[in-house]
Amino acid sequence: MKKLMTLVLALCVIAFASAEKLTVSSPDNQLQVQISQDAQGAVFYQVTYQGKVMLEDSPLGMITNVNDFGKRLKLIDSQTDVVKKSYTQSKIKHSQVDYLANQLVCNFVVRNNQRFSIVFRVSNNNIAFKYVLPQNDGTAVCVVEEELTGFKFPTSTTTFLTPQSKPMVGWMRTKPSYEEGYIPDDVLGAASGYGVGYTFPGLFHIGDDGWVLVSETGVSSQYCASKLGEPTREGLYTVAFPEPGENNGLGSAKPGLALPGETPWRTITVGNSLKPIVETTIPFDVVEPLYEASQEYQFGRSTWSWIMWQDQSMNYDDQVTYIDLAAEMGYEYILIDALWDKQLGYERLESLIKYAQSKGVDVFLWYNSNGYWNDAPQGPKQKMHNAIVRKKEMQWLQSVGVKGLKVDFFGGDKQVTMKLYEDILSDANDYGLMCIFHGCTLPRGWERMYPNYVGSEAVLASENLVFSQHANDTEAYNACLHPFIRNAVGCMEFGPVLLNKRHNRNNDGGSIRRTTETFQLATAVLFQSPVQMFAITPNNLKEYPAFVIDFMKDVPTTWDETVFIDGYPGKYVVLARRHLDKWYVVGLNAEKTVKTIKINLPMFAGKKVDLYQDKDDRTPDFKNVSIKKSGEYTVTIQSEGAVIFVSN
Ligand code: CA
Repeated sequence: MKKLMTLVLALCVIAFASAEKLTVSSPDNQLQVQISQDAQGAVFYQVTYQGKVMLEDSPLGMITNVNDFGKRLKLIDSQTDVVKKSYTQSKIKHSQVDYLANQLVCNFVVRNNQRFSIVFRVSNNNIAFKYVLPQNDGTAVCVVEEELTGFKFPTSTTTFLTPQSKPMVGWMRTKPSYEEGYIPDDVLGAASGYGVGYTFPGLFHIGDDGWVLVSETGVSSQYCASKLGEPTREGLYTVAFPEPGENNGLGSAKPGLALPGETPWRTITVGNSLKPIVETTIPFDVVEPLYEASQEYQFGRSTWSWIMWQDQSMNYDDQVTYIDLAAEMGYEYILIDALWDKQLGYERLESLIKYAQSKGVDVFLWYNSNGYWNDAPQGPKQKMHNAIVRKKEMQWLQSVGVKGLKVDFFGGDKQVTMKLYEDILSDANDYGLMCIFHGCTLPRGWERMYPNYVGSEAVLASENLVFSQHANDTEAYNACLHPFIRNAVGCMEFGPVLLNKRHNRNNDGGSIRRTTETFQLATAVLFQSPVQMFAITPNNLKEYPAFVIDFMKDVPTTWDETVFIDGYPGKYVVLARRHLDKWYVVGLNAEKTVKTIKINLPMFAGKKVDLYQDKDDRTPDFKNVSIKKSGEYTVTIQSEGAVIFVSN
């Protein structure tokens, strides 16, 4: 991995009597943050983009059990710096990132002369900010009782948000797990439905003026994961901590800080279009790897029997079938999912792993995270919940050549659970194992922070297509939300590409797929995750023309570049991704009518490309097309269908 270069230039230190005139702008001067204070000494920030207000005066500050850093703040000085760094990161939307931001640090004192700092970094289209608490006296630790941090949107705003679930509900009391639905273009200030706020990230449409995506990053064992609390009617969304009931009520909902300490970064991506939101790398720009990779991890594609053949397929013969499928597809992995401990046993698993290796296929293995936090019954359990058993298990996993884990069913967003994620990742790295999480929280910068982290569910993933018809009826709509929201801030382990027409083992019963085969293929590119568990089945190889299966053999899972071309959340999206010198452009239509749009494909200008599309009878079609020198192309996308352009 290329060594990152960090260059921080201290430009000046200026003393201010008040915060009235403190501003920090992006390098291109389009995005501006203005800090102000009211008569009570509370601190606010306002965000404008191209002169238009994207966030009105929004509160800053926090209350700890040591002091109130929310009012009577007296600015003592401020510093402006330039933060410049370049890094490579193969697990996200862009493999090479250049980050340039103007930084403003505002240093305040409160009662008893205790210091408190707010750090803003403003890059083009992105703001990240955090609080820093020094150790002010003999008190070396604190509990953060509450954050005042808020986001106050103009009245013209509509929202694209998903509610946080109440704790200890849902299947086997495993929620929250970021598996609720979105309401598109909802009213500003609407109650969430469950009364416990909304999860990050949240997308806000600022009328005709632009778009704002709010999230957080850099969440490790040093803090809890936060969310947006229930908003005020006026459109103020405030950072809130997990519910006390999460983790079966155990562990603190409030984070603790060792001093000096700091909060995670809260991020605001701003644009006059959706392009900066789809393409943002802010979750990764402001964090650093927390440890070195013990080796170079190999990402790739996997098969898994569980998605379509379910629990009964956890037997030797069915796993052999899926290993053979992976081998035939040229995939790097098989995921052996839940229940292998009982239905296969450790010894037969070892011989299955050997068989897989003999076919050139490596193994991801499923584990339950619990533990004392929910009732999820599938085994193996009580192997990942504490360091003693975990390290013993991982030693064995390494000895038999397992390459990765899928750990499922976490307890919530408290700091104690963030520590569990981190401990699993850190131990797994020691034993050369990658980690995917399911039944879990949103990853917050983890692709960069943890070298062996390779994916999180935190979405209504493909299993729901098997479980319910409703998920199929809304599949296209949900797929067209993710690039703008969930998948914009972190990799999304969805388990895509379900080529069965009916979602059961024999492709003859169960829920009915509404989207086309081309749509399914397009999700392999649309959904970004460095390790993809594809939901294809052995029968698919006989059911479809060779070009469909060949596409699935060739499609990569890592990308050097991601470019937003067109779209609207929940309606349609056209997105381009480049792997080495090969471009994939996918266009997906969630609307009930055929969509004809003119798009600009500069990467294909004057070239011949492969085009996958839907015939009028909705079956897949493949042909070569020539793109004009202008790069313009008028494309027709079927309802719940897709097009895919690939460099040839
Ligand atoms: Ca799940």
